[in-house]
Amino acid sequence: MTRDLKHTDITYLPGIGPARAKILREELNINTWHDLLYYFPYKHIDRSRLYSISELSADMPFVQVKGQFLSFEESGVGRKRHLTGHFTDGHMVMDLVWFNGIKYITKNIHLHRDYIVFGRPSEFNGRISISHPDVDSADSLVLSKMSMQPYYTIPEKMKKRGLNSRSLEHFTSTLFLQLDFSIPETLPEYILQRLHLMPLDQALRCIHYPATADELSRATFRLKFEELFYIQLSILRYTRERQRQSQGHVFARVGEIFNTFFHQNLPFPLTGAQKRVIREMRQDMGSGKQMNRLLQGDVGSGKTLVALMIMLIGIDNGFQTCIMAPTEILAEQHVETFRSMLGNMDVRVELLTGIVKGKKRKSVLEGLKTGQVNILVGTHAIIEDNVSFYNLGLVVIDEQHRFGVAQRAKLWEKNIVPPHVLVMTATPIPRTLAMTLYGDLDVSVIDELPPGRKPVKTIHMYDNNPDLIHQGIYQQIQEGRQVYVVYPLIKESEHLSYKNVEEGFVHMQKVFPMFKVGMVHGQMKSADKEAEMQKFILGETQILVATTVIEVGVNVPNASVMVIQNAERFGLSQLHQLRGRVGRGADQSFCVLVTNYELSKETRKRIQIMTETNDGFEIAEADLKLRGPGDLEGTQQSGIAFDLHIANLARDGQLVQLARDTANYVLDNDPEQNQPQNAVLWQQLRELHEHEFDWSMIS
Ligand code: ADP
Ligand code: MG
Repeated sequence: MTRDLKHTDITYLPGIGPARAKILREELNINTWHDLLYYFPYKHIDRSRLYSISELSADMPFVQVKGQFLSFEESGVGRKRHLTGHFTDGHMVMDLVWFNGIKYITKNIHLHRDYIVFGRPSEFNGRISISHPDVDSADSLVLSKMSMQPYYTIPEKMKKRGLNSRSLEHFTSTLFLQLDFSIPETLPEYILQRLHLMPLDQALRCIHYPATADELSRATFRLKFEELFYIQLSILRYTRERQRQSQGHVFARVGEIFNTFFHQNLPFPLTGAQKRVIREMRQDMGSGKQMNRLLQGDVGSGKTLVALMIMLIGIDNGFQTCIMAPTEILAEQHVETFRSMLGNMDVRVELLTGIVKGKKRKSVLEGLKTGQVNILVGTHAIIEDNVSFYNLGLVVIDEQHRFGVAQRAKLWEKNIVPPHVLVMTATPIPRTLAMTLYGDLDVSVIDELPPGRKPVKTIHMYDNNPDLIHQGIYQQIQEGRQVYVVYPLIKESEHLSYKNVEEGFVHMQKVFPMFKVGMVHGQMKSADKEAEMQKFILGETQILVATTVIEVGVNVPNASVMVIQNAERFGLSQLHQLRGRVGRGADQSFCVLVTNYELSKETRKRIQIMTETNDGFEIAEADLKLRGPGDLEGTQQSGIAFDLHIANLARDGQLVQLARDTANYVLDNDPEQNQPQNAVLWQQLRELHEHEFDWSMIS
């Protein structure tokens, strides 16, 4: 009899009554047979081999030994209380040790009966011991059937309520005994064949109970593929649909403004990568469809200029444009850059942020309404203030990771022709993640820095040697350069011993009485922050002590040293962003990562990556691997839950690509989605949407 697994309650499984069902539901969100089938083990252990005690040593992984207990012995008091069982395989004796659950062991385990014990051996006083081994009576374990034993993740609470990995094993094996039919296939036959995938029925059985390691890896492959495939199919189907419907302003021509700028005002030749991405965008904007493009380019790769040039194309076609920056400092810097690059060209650039008030603000708002303002530069206040344009044709969002998806969606009213959207980010998102997170955006990449840049030299130093760092700073300033010193916190907190920025400010003034020292941090008033920034930009201060407020975008080409205090406190992409503040001029720049001595393995790895590479993409990949996608800057705000059971975006990059290619193949060959061999796909998508995620969120 075939059952609908998704609708068969877990209590229909022999051995699971209401009490256990409640635990499974509360702790693992397992409600149905289907849920149990998809609760995959996190590892398997080969239990086909028995060891003798004489073979064991402390460097071995899990082992199992068959034998009998000779005696038990309790010793120690309080937290040191423990139980030792003397266990023999008939030739030698080893110790099995328990620190808790002692009562249970002494009550349930008997002397002089055959048991199989299983665990990780260690050596103590020349004697082999295993603490907290699994113990099974020898006749309940059929070793021939136990070649690869599944291990399931079990929350602590669940263990306390008496269910462990063994219980789960029992439930899944019971479930498979009950399944006297094949689990219905969820991929079309032709995809299985093309990619040599295991059928679903076999894959689900093998992921729990593989006969061999090879079988396990084929089952894993099939299930990971399927998971990623449906995500890609869902995104791509949605994107194609939107493209089919969406209208866009047609920017048909490159006109006088762009050409004048290009031939007369451009301060330096464009890099090949800049030219290429501008071409890609022109194609989008001329197509009659709305552009939705993500521009990735490492810090300093020249995204601002690209933004300006495509805005000029918009103006040439009779539209207004706007660019949003994450901070006021950055917005102001953009205005200055644009105005000075445009020189005396007839393009009106205006700034709108929270600090633009009164008459000035009124005149800007008026100019937007009448169409006289061509380029509006602002912060996200632009969205919140209900600013109205005469005809907005293009929106550029700079440094995307500070902007959530919801904010993007607020940019224009429904039911009007939407402006083209360009999202720029200096936090490179690894391709595999971009394909999932921003699967609906087209991606352009600036993979080339302007010529003449020297890579920043990155040095790791411990904080017990400040003199050496001070010497370096002194020397650079003597040569006419400027220095950033960044601290992780603003005020000293009771719990954290991290140096703080105000203390650092006082300290730097003391060490360098001959230089001028400035300070910026997030708790200062905007105007004060602004004034301090300006002093540094103009070279009036030589040292700027700061928090991460200077992380994003600020451009002071004369600054050549970035000292990051307590660098262990920062994530990889943040360190990379901070380092990007120097190395913007032609001279050699330095980044000094100062840490304390006690570093975790992960932190050490982070620091090492920073000293080894300047490549933002490499760093982003490494970050993804170290921290997982959920933690990546930007992804938290994206509002997309990664509900992946088995695939891993960091590790399964190639599989993401395969999944995407396959999904594209399907949609190319079945654009109307009515071919019978694909019926199973659309059915499956419908079910996934009901149960799991709402991909329409990522518009
Ligand atoms: P980011 O991509 O980090 O926003 P910017 O747009 O701030 O980078 O550019 C960094 C610096 O490089 C700026 O001083 C800018 O004027 C300069 N720049 C941009 N494009 C070029 C180019 N093609 N050749 C030389 N310098 C360039
Ligand atoms: Mg920038």
